[in-house]
Amino acid sequence: MKLSRILSNRDGTSRQSANRLIAAGRVRVNGRVCRHGAQDVDRFATVHLDDTEVQTGATAHYLMLHKPAGYLSATVDAVHPTVLELVPPGLPPDLHIAGRLDRASTGLLILTNDGAWSRQLTEPRVKLPKVYRVTTAYPIGPDTADRFAEGIWFEFEQLRTSPALLEPLAPCEARVTIYEGRYHQIKRMFHACGNRVTGLHRERMGRIQLDHNLMPGGVRPLSDAEIASVH
Ligand code: URA
Repeated sequence: MKLSRILSNRDGTSRQSANRLIAAGRVRVNGRVCRHGAQDVDRFATVHLDDTEVQTGATAHYLMLHKPAGYLSATVDAVHPTVLELVPPGLPPDLHIAGRLDRASTGLLILTNDGAWSRQLTEPRVKLPKVYRVTTAYPIGPDTADRFAEGIWFEFEQLRTSPALLEPLAPCEARVTIYEGRYHQIKRMFHACGNRVTGLHRERMGRIQLDHNLMPGGVRPLSDAEIASVH
């Protein structure tokens, strides 16, 4: 929200008066004077007018979870267990999943209540790499890497996937890097090449790597460096 709006929402001060207070240097955001009423300020920032707190910054949470197979990337479900059930109690109810995994898929899942941050992680236009270890039902064909690099046509969305990298590890195993996160993307890419995915494990999103010390079902907060790596 614009800084001037935060001030005017508080007690009906007009936007014009709010802008005057801001220009006079009487408003601090996270302890620093801000003189721009048009400045976007998120709900995690504290805002003071002189010594009065106008906005108490909400606490941002960032969690890494090692998703086990069988859990839905959803907040509630009547039939299947959800990954939210693995999160320790006491966290705010507004956590969301930054980049879902299919129920059978395993590996790195990130949860946060910071929507602007998670968009940087997931929006296709940002082109952040997502790295998966994939096992397939049949040996991976010799042309699959080239087809992934050219992009696969998705009829339903009428689009071609961004170039993806396939590094073979074994006849039926590869490491695949994609730069988007479309619905069942990797399964559909292999399907288009006449193969079938039997196992999918996410190892990395951007520079955030699944912690080897986290057992399936384990959760830990992201480090400051991991949080800062997404911008
Ligand atoms: N691509 C898929 O097909 N499934 C996932 O869970 C993630 C990427």
